[in-house]
Amino acid sequence: MMLTRPEALPDELGPAYKGRFMRYNGMSDPKLAMLTLLAWSGNAGASRREVSTVELLARVAGMDTAQFVRDHTTLPLRRAVVSKLPEIHDHGCTEHKSLLWTVALRETRPGAYFCVACIHEDLHFHGTPYWRREHQLPGLYCCAKHMLPLSYVETRDAFLDSPSAFAVNHHVVDERWVAALQVSQPIQRFLAISSDLLARSKPLDERDVSRAARARAIELKLHTGRGRVDKKLVSDLIKSRFDRDWLESVIPGLVEKPVGQYWPAVDNALLSGKRPGLSSTVYAVVFSALFESSDEAMNAMIESVPSGNAGGQPISPRVDATAYQIRAAYIANRGCHSAVARQLGLGADAARRRLLEQGLPNLGAANGSALQNAASAVFLDGASLDRACQIHGVRREDLERLLVRSASPFTSALSEIRRLGRRRASAPRAKPMAPPRQRRRVVAVEAPLGAPYIEATTPQNVAQ
Ligand SMILES: [Zn+2]
Repeated sequence: MMLTRPEALPDELGPAYKGRFMRYNGMSDPKLAMLTLLAWSGNAGASRREVSTVELLARVAGMDTAQFVRDHTTLPLRRAVVSKLPEIHDHGCTEHKSLLWTVALRETRPGAYFCVACIHEDLHFHGTPYWRREHQLPGLYCCAKHMLPLSYVETRDAFLDSPSAFAVNHHVVDERWVAALQVSQPIQRFLAISSDLLARSKPLDERDVSRAARARAIELKLHTGRGRVDKKLVSDLIKSRFDRDWLESVIPGLVEKPVGQYWPAVDNALLSGKRPGLSSTVYAVVFSALFESSDEAMNAMIESVPSGNAGGQPISPRVDATAYQIRAAYIANRGCHSAVARQLGLGADAARRRLLEQGLPNLGAANGSALQNAASAVFLDGASLDRACQIHGVRREDLERLLVRSASPFTSALSEIRRLGRRRASAPRAKPMAPPRQRRRVVAVEAPLGAPYIEATTPQNVAQ
């Protein structure tokens, strides 16, 4: 059976990858597509419990299931803190199938979110726009790369379509509201904690996390345990520290709670030695309320893990390579992305993203050294593109693609300049809705993609 198997793009959301795979293969029925994949993978007739969707998608992407789960699903965040001990194993472990077929591809919040600037960039950069996992995280309403309010749709199965299908009809999260969230320290801490949790390969034991929260709460003289409430509750601390609409979108119902009333869905986080089964998101909110920096909060959360427990949890160091270190490693490793990742202890995807952000394309691929010579001929020796390709035997489109990738900081700035121009030229926009989950009306913004385009399986030739 001949199937087109697209590469899973950096941070591409699993269900979105499924949609892209279906489009590339002319499939429109998701059930039929999965049956086709069962047959393709030699599992015809197997039940979906035996072979889960996420396993099939990983197979299509040529990745092992655990890696696919870690890089392309939100499961590592949703299961960052777990209450059942047998569940403490690596995210995406195929010995625990039930998690794969029940929760691996579950949505994290209502709506499908995207950034119009990312769509534009991804189209030029990767040859196709796509849904990013990061943009689906609870409490996140601003693209960290472009500092733009996210757009969203409430269409069912939106991830199966390209985000460009919603280029005209989508909601935009209120700009002023997003600006306020951007300067809210607790919310920024929450986002940093979420992102750190998402990057972990293994869950934390809720009992340990809850102990760490309780210890900090005692330091802050907050109420802990189930007894009579005569000190401030952590649920009230949270209510006082977070934006009301934001809180309503992350922990629905909390804003309505009367001050002083014990609210188990949050206050149970401070019961010592218990595993009350609260969500990872609640813990991320609790820790960002209790600590003054996300680093302190994360350290407290992770250090709560007793060393030398049965799982032998190797705690991955929190790697935070600087732009300078990344560039130095790129040079030392002759432009090979995977070698940079190894040297800096970064994941392959993270390394790739950081390198490309700095305009440092991969020279470690099959024709990498020929491309490197051709690029040197252009940039260092002033050769024309055609001449450089001819001398070094590379295809012009390959060289152009490399040069475009190397211009990513410029591309990103250009796209912002264009947006500035548009903003000035256009009539005042209809007021975007706030808060994000309100259902009012569809706001039409300028179509960022211009004319409809045809998705290509390979990145587009830039000369077109
Ligand atoms: Zn963006």
